[in-house]
Amino acid sequence: MAYQHLQVDGSALDLPVGKVVCIGRNYAEHARELNNEIPTEPLLFMKPATALAPLDEPVTVPKGHGSVHFETELAVLIGERLTDVDAQAAQHGIAGVGLALDLTLRDVQDQLKSKGHPWERSKAFDGACPVSRFLTPASVGDLTDVNLRLTVNDEVRQEGNSAQMLTPVLALISYISQWFTLEPGDLVLTGTPAGVGPLKPGDKLVVEIVDLLRVDTEAQ
Ligand code: ZN
Repeated sequence: MAYQHLQVDGSALDLPVGKVVCIGRNYAEHARELNNEIPTEPLLFMKPATALAPLDEPVTVPKGHGSVHFETELAVLIGERLTDVDAQAAQHGIAGVGLALDLTLRDVQDQLKSKGHPWERSKAFDGACPVSRFLTPASVGDLTDVNLRLTVNDEVRQEGNSAQMLTPVLALISYISQWFTLEPGDLVLTGTPAGVGPLKPGDKLVVEIVDLLRVDTEAQ
């Protein structure tokens, strides 16, 4: 089924499906686990709308391109047109808060990085961004204190709190809006905590905003 933005009760949100703007290395521990430098400025990249897929349907693991890593991320749904906004306007522009997997062809990415080439093929492929349904911003509250967790085959693999972000959510939206206009229906992915690893067909995943949102899914 084609992807559309949904509320937690399953009803459709009246927003188009747009681009996904992502940040790399927004948690220091994750940057270290991949032997990357801690960036001094947000490291942005994008996924197109064709990368989106519903997280509660089986997650397709691409074949023939080396390892495919899961990266569990807090996903923010944009509800207003945001150009060069401050943090307060960024807050007002949020229509929903959910979860996403920033699926990454890690071997392809390593090859591209070693040549100094852009990462797109490793990050922007069809299905590279499975996304959950969205909570209202009010039901989530303080975006600087949100707990994320990924459990794979009954083992906790990723845990993090948004307080650990090098660039917090509202500052990130503000920063992005200085470079790219965010439009209603766009998503912002806010980076992954440490613990990323390969995803294999048959893996059972539980992706959570602890106590607020739980998605049970599997890889195929
Ligand atoms: Zn990521």
